[in-house]
Amino acid sequence: MNAERVELAIVGAGCAGLSLAWHLLDAGIDGRRMVLIDPRTSYERDRTWCFFEVWPHPFEHLVTHRWERWRVRAPGGPWVERGDPEVPYAHLPADAFYGSVRARLAAAGVSLRLGVRAGAIDDDGRAARLETSAGLLEATLVFDSRPPLGDRSREVSLLQHFEGWEVLLEEDRFEPRSAILMDFDVPQTGRGAHFLYVLPFERRRALVEATWFSPDPPGDWTLHRESLRRYLGSARCSLVHRERGVIPMTTEPAATRWSPRIVPIGLAGGLAKPSTGYAFLDIQRHSAALAEDLAAGRPLAPRSRRSWLSHLQDDVFLEYLSRDPPAAAVAMVGLFERLAPDLTARFLHDRVSPRERVGVMRAMPIAAMTGALLRATPRWIRRKMPA
Ligand SMILES: Cc1cc2nc3c(=O)[nH]c(=O)nc-3n(C[C@H](O)[C@H](O)[C@H](O)COP(=O)(O)OP(=O)(O)OC[C@H]3O[C@@H](n4cnc5c(N)ncnc54)[C@H](O)[C@@H]3O)c2cc1C
Repeated sequence: MNAERVELAIVGAGCAGLSLAWHLLDAGIDGRRMVLIDPRTSYERDRTWCFFEVWPHPFEHLVTHRWERWRVRAPGGPWVERGDPEVPYAHLPADAFYGSVRARLAAAGVSLRLGVRAGAIDDDGRAARLETSAGLLEATLVFDSRPPLGDRSREVSLLQHFEGWEVLLEEDRFEPRSAILMDFDVPQTGRGAHFLYVLPFERRRALVEATWFSPDPPGDWTLHRESLRRYLGSARCSLVHRERGVIPMTTEPAATRWSPRIVPIGLAGGLAKPSTGYAFLDIQRHSAALAEDLAAGRPLAPRSRRSWLSHLQDDVFLEYLSRDPPAAAVAMVGLFERLAPDLTARFLHDRVSPRERVGVMRAMPIAAMTGALLRATPRWIRRKMPA
């Protein structure tokens, strides 16, 4: 079969694929060298990206809301409110991102092929050969953001799943000054840790999300809907927007298709922080690093630049969270309580020095974390051993 020859193929034009194309253009790479493919045929607001702005990123102009204060609450505990104007919590709706990036790609002559699904991929030592629903592509380099291959249920012990409703109430209810990041003071179901996440835009408008860190998948989402209805109570409201997500919480490497010519990116490249699911900022940093390497002719970094210490800390915390979700919830709130607000924000996005990491560990319950460390250690040793 005749193959179409392309230089840079980006598989999946979601957050990571579009971000990479943006950063490649920033690095001076000609848009006509890039082809993006994605089976979707349209873009809509299918998610909202939120993060502490602890790293610069090129989409600051698309942030629609920033909170300089935030609150958390343990089961049965008081509110803990903290804040720092230097590291606001930012809200970026996906439709604004998709629209802005697509306009730039179109102007730069990037070929974005929607309605095209990628299939098998193979590196024959000369080029990467990619089967697609529109024919065979032969590329010098492929960046692949398709969801990871294979059955991950064996290796993933926890999932983060959430349903969010942006609601407009008929009466004032929300406190727009501060975002509620984790309210664990809600009926727990015994299936992991459950909390509400409330981003108040105005007194009457907020995005309210029911979230679980759970070993079980979300099922038919009844629990999420019940939790949201319980929170809204008898308030009369209209639904402006709804979104759902499931993110694996794991430090196990994803079954990727890495080869010198095939580079996994996005969640497929392990870029979601295992203990929180935050990925947007890491995707920007990884895309920028790949683009710089490519523009400079350097070898490409195979995966995220997260340190082994960060992985270990996440692993230990996930072990603790799977064993004792209520205690882990209290520990998370304790971090917000004890650490300087900017350190908490930076820790959640891995922008901390090794010394600061030790400080974070000291703010956790030492005995429980030591137990979790001991339980996590065999997994670490096994992972380092050749298969
Ligand atoms: C609802 C939701 C909310 C989130 N909120 C946050 C947040 O607040 N903060 C944060 O940091 N992270 C958040 N995340 C996590 C993460 O930032 C997002 O999942 C992000 O979109 C990951 O980017 P990605 O490119 O890896 O995946 P995606 O953005 O999902 O892109 C993958 C693309 O691959 C395409 N694809 C699938 N199969 C094929 C195929 N066979 N061939 C070609 N293309 C294919 C898909 O159509 C899709 O466009 C959220 C995730 C979800 C789901």
